[in-house]
Formats: sequence, structure tokens, C-alpha cells
Amino acid sequence: MLNDTERETRLLMGNEIFAHAALEAGVNVVAGYPGTPSSELIETVARLRAQGCAEGVHVEWSTNEKAALELLSGAAYCGARVLFTCKQMGLNVAADALLSLNYVGVKGGTVLFVADDPGPISSQTEQDTRRFAAFAKVPVFDPTTPDEGFAMMKAAFELSERYGTPVIVRPTTRICHASTFISVAKHTVARPLPPEGFERSSRWIIFPKRSFEAHGEVNARLAEMAEVFSKEPAYTCFNKAIEGGGESACGAGDTHGASVEAPTLGIVAGGVSASYAKEALCLIEETAAREGMNVPPYRFMAVGTPYPFPASAAGEFLAGLHDVLVFEELDSVLEEELMKVAGAKKLPVTIRGKLSGEARDRGENTTTDIALRLAAFFDGESGETCDVTRDAIHGTLTALLQQTVGADALIPAAENVPIRPPVLCAGCPHRGSFYAVKQAIGLLRKKARKDNPNAPALEAVFCGDIGCYTLGNAAPLEAIDTCLCMGAGITQAQGFSLAEPRKKAIAFVGDSTFFASGMTGVANAVYNNHDITIVVLDNSTTAMTGTQPHPGTGVTMMGTRSEPIEIDEVLEALGVTCIMRANPYELDEAVEAAEIAIAFEGPSALIYKAPCIQISKPAPPAEIDADCCTGCRRCITEIGCPAIGFRPDAKGPKSADRGLAFIDDTLCTGCDLCVQVCPFKAIVSHEQLAGNGSSGTSSSEGGANR
Ligand code: SF4
Ligand code: SF4
Repeated sequence: MLNDTERETRLLMGNEIFAHAALEAGVNVVAGYPGTPSSELIETVARLRAQGCAEGVHVEWSTNEKAALELLSGAAYCGARVLFTCKQMGLNVAADALLSLNYVGVKGGTVLFVADDPGPISSQTEQDTRRFAAFAKVPVFDPTTPDEGFAMMKAAFELSERYGTPVIVRPTTRICHASTFISVAKHTVARPLPPEGFERSSRWIIFPKRSFEAHGEVNARLAEMAEVFSKEPAYTCFNKAIEGGGESACGAGDTHGASVEAPTLGIVAGGVSASYAKEALCLIEETAAREGMNVPPYRFMAVGTPYPFPASAAGEFLAGLHDVLVFEELDSVLEEELMKVAGAKKLPVTIRGKLSGEARDRGENTTTDIALRLAAFFDGESGETCDVTRDAIHGTLTALLQQTVGADALIPAAENVPIRPPVLCAGCPHRGSFYAVKQAIGLLRKKARKDNPNAPALEAVFCGDIGCYTLGNAAPLEAIDTCLCMGAGITQAQGFSLAEPRKKAIAFVGDSTFFASGMTGVANAVYNNHDITIVVLDNSTTAMTGTQPHPGTGVTMMGTRSEPIEIDEVLEALGVTCIMRANPYELDEAVEAAEIAIAFEGPSALIYKAPCIQISKPAPPAEIDADCCTGCRRCITEIGCPAIGFRPDAKGPKSADRGLAFIDDTLCTGCDLCVQVCPFKAIVSHEQLAGNGSSGTSSSEGGANR
């Protein structure tokens, strides 16, 4: 235990707190693949290590989740404590390794930090890692607050080593991104590895006979863990039950509100929903007290170890209850487990929740929603002793929030905030890439018609992938037709080329995704000679998740430089014979390269390379020459850069009543794509401005003078 002088209280984000907890647990190796809402954990470990606050730890972004978990398993076989990080869908990529690893077992503590995304806010699916844990037969912790997550991370390492099992810690977005004050060690040192290191044994080799034995061992240890989660204080602290309501004051969250009457109503919640439910219960009790009413006595349980489910503790909780309402995000995991316990013990209790339609079946929960549902639950129980109505609860919540954050906070977001669909950033190099490919298809179509007026028009299908460039689907670019999962664009394009060979199948893939999951698809295209064009949008970073490095950047999370892997060399080594390269900001060059790659029969590649604007210095903004602008709007309808706006009432010598375009110089990065798109040379680049002096009457907006 560290003394006070070795600790400090800091305001930290949930993911930073998880990082501190792992470091305090002596973690030796941390690896993962970026994905919202999980990414900040590895970045925090790397930062603390670089600052000299975390000694002896190795940290890296691996090429993908499978690579990360396999690397970590090797270190864990030697006795190292290891931490894996990813978002929920990343676990799908690592699933092959995880399911076998659980049978093989581990020596050093092996914790998988898998962040779920209810909503979803930045994911393709709302899959529930608690379900995945049960499928993989791996125990899972589900923190209700960042502070509890801090304790759970340490407990997870202990549990992993006690049973030789991987353990999952599964926070959701609001736990990952909430901030709180917490005491953390100022300096940590990775735990020394056991002197014997890796011990050769047949246990590390997953033969079928050993798998059969191991399956039995996994089942036995899960049954034991379910009891441990019900009975050992080190773990029952995560599955706390309290009582409230009746003659008491606010009882949620402590025991002073224990009722004198035996409760017949129960509330069970998991993850952040448990915190919301506690807040909701306090709101209800405060409202009832103000009105001189009583809330019916109730029993409340937060379940922090959903798998293996603490059935004994749940059985004790259910005794004497006749109605239980369950709040959890994503799947009905707790609801189903409680039903199993009630059925096995033949308890006369009704379990309600998602399956009964009394809780949200998807997306995130909120305190307001839970308070309203609980009010209805209590009203339904005893209308005479508690007439806390939906309106009363909402009125109280409204009053409370109005006092603290103002009335606007209560207006639903859809009414309060203008809808702003996500778009590629102003100056994003992907805009030029998409535009060039579509221009090239148009030119190839024209050429084909010229050669043979009866030839069918060239059509194309655009297979997208996971990253910022999925936003290329939006108007006016409309350059993404599909998006499935990491790396799928390249392989999906091959399916399109088989099913609809008259269309040219074009796959867009980012540089990080190329290394993570794209290379096997390229090998398949070459091996089977599929007629596709792979467009690599190389912006030299993993932009979508916060500009993390990858094998093509030549930078590691340990602060060392490595030789960057060149994507064109990989493509060449995999057998792609037609590889074009171009700068997506140079429109003529980009279109010409696309024409050659798309016209090639067989697998071809086109690499558009220009750095993400988040990692490059912007150039001075372009300007619109109001004397030349005709108000044709081509700059808006062709490329859709958010820095370009339009004033319909403005007049110029050539625009008549059509209005004038303008450039917001606070957004413009001076990429000059629009300069090349305007057919009337009305957009002037910073270089032209510097060379020619004044460009006439400029039409710009924004405050910055550059
Ligand atoms: S130069 Fe044009 S396309 Fe580039 S960021 Fe500025 S307004 Fe947008
Ligand atoms: S700047 Fe050029 S493209 Fe845009 S409206 Fe004016 S003339 Fe048309």
C-alpha cells in the first residue's frame, strides 16, 4: 500500500483511471488497437511512461486486436501481467485468440479492457461484451462508476492469476469518458517477472484431448467464481444490495434509509445504469418526502460481475420479492440471469425489464428515463401509499435541473441543437480522392461512349471501410455504397466483381485499416485475379480515433522510431502489378492516376497520399474573388467542403441575382481543391494571392487575419 505522500488526487477521465489502476497493479505489457470509446487508456499509459511516471511497462498499438492479444498471451505465459484494450467490435477480431486462450489458460494476470458503445455513438453495432464473455466463458466485470472501475481493474488481475483465466473489464462509453477526482500513485513500477519465466509444458499446446480436459476445468472454475462473487468481500463489494423506501428518507446508495417494512419490490441494475438508478431513486424519494408521501419499501442491487452470475447472492436478494425491475444497457443479460435464478429456486417473483417492454430495449439509459419508469413501477405497486406520478417526478427533475444548468438543458437535443450531419473536415485529403475517382469514372465513361456509342455506360460500386472516409457516403460526394467491418471493403469489392462484373468494383481503405485487416483481402484478390481497384487513402495516421500511429508511420508508442512499412511495397510484394500513386490535392494528377488504375483489368491499386489535416499545418486560406464568381455553386455541389458557404442575396458583377460563394477563413486549410474545381477561376489560392497582391473584391467570412 502506498502512503499519502506517494499518491495524489487528480481529476481524471475514466480511461485514464483504468490506465492508472493497471499500472498500480504492476502491468508489464499493454497492447491494443484504437477504437472509441477505449483509446485513451493506451495513450495514458504511453504518456505516463514517457513522463517517467510508469517504469518498466511496454506499451504499443498493435496492427490489430488479434495481433495484440496473441502478443500479450506470449508475455502472460512467461508470468507477465498484461492488459489488452479495444472497443467492443475489436473483440470480434481477437475472438479466435481469446476463445483458445481461455482453454489454454494464462500464468500472468491477463485483463481485457473492452469498452462497449451503447447508442451506438461511434460503432456499427450495439453488441454486448457481457454476452461475449459468456460465449467465451471468460469472467467479466462491469463498473458502475470510474472509481469502481479502478478497483475492478486491480481485482481483475488478482482473479486472473488466481484462476489462470483471462478476465474482461467492460466499461461503457459514459464510464470511459466521465471524469472524477481520484487518488492515484505518482509513480509506478512494473511487477518483476517470476524468476522461472516460461515453463515448458504440454498445457500450452491446445491439442483436442487437452481441450476436452480444459473445457471441464473452465466450467469448474466458472462455477467456483460465481460463488466467490456471491460470498468473498473482495468481490461482493461489486454486487451490493441495499434497502430503501418505506418510512425512510433517501436510501439509495447507503444503508441509513433501510425500511422497517419488508420490501416486495426489487430493482437490479448493471454498469452505468446502476448509477442512474441510484440518482433516480433519490429524486423519487426527495419528491415523495416533499409531498409528505412514502415510497414503497424496495431492495436495490447493483451487479458488477454479470458473468459468471452471482446466483447465490441474487437468490438471497430475490427472497421475499414479488416484482423486480431491471435496468441495463444493450442486452437483457441481468434480466435473463435473474429469471434463471428465480426459476431454479422456484421463487414467486416477476422479473421485468427489456424483455417485458418496461426498460429501453437498446441505446443508452438516462436518469430521467429510469426515474419515470421507477415512478410507474412504484405507482403500480401501491397507488394509495405512494402517488408519486410521472408528472411529479418529471416536474421535480425539471426544477432541479433548471436550478443547476438552466431550462435549455431540458429541451430534447433534437429540438435544442441544429442537426449537423457528420462531414469530412474542411481540407480533408479524402475529399479530393473521392472527387478524383468519380471524375475519372466520368471520363472513362465518356471515352468508352466515344469509342463505341452502343457500349453500356461504365458503372461502378464503391465499397467503403471503417474510418473517417466512411463519411464519403454523404452528398455531394456520394462515393461510398457499402461499409461492413474492418477490411471488408477490399473483399466485398471482390464479391461485387463476381456478381456484377459489368460494374467496376472500387474499394476504399485507409492506411491504418490496410495494415489492420486489409492485406489478406489484397492477397485474395491477387491469388484469384479479381477485377477490382483498391484505393488506399493514406493520410499517415489513424485519424478517426485520434491520430494514433500505425506500422506505416514509423513511430511507436514507446517513443522510438521504426522503419515505416511502405504500402506500395506491400502491395507489390503481394503481387499487385498496377500500382498508381498521386497527391489527392493535385486534381489533374489524381484523376489521371485513377483513370489508369480503374481501366486496368485485374487487381489494381491507387495510393492517394496526403497527411490528415489534424497532423499537418494548415496553409493560408483561399479566397473567392467576388468580381469573378458567377454564383454557379459548383464549388459547393461538387465537393461539399464545409468551409465554403453561399450568400444568396449577395451580388457581384458576374453573379446577377444568383448570389455569391464565400470561404470561411476560420475553417479553410488552404488545400486549394476548390481552386481547381471552380470553372470560372473565381477562387484564388494563397499562393496566387501572395504572387498577385490583391485579387480584387474578396468574398470571405470569419474573423481571423492570416
Ligand atoms: S481551399 Fe477550398 S476546399 Fe480547401 S479547405 Fe479551403 S475552402 Fe475547402
Ligand atoms: S466560386 Fe466558382 S464555383 Fe463557386 S459559385 Fe463562384 S463561380 Fe461558382
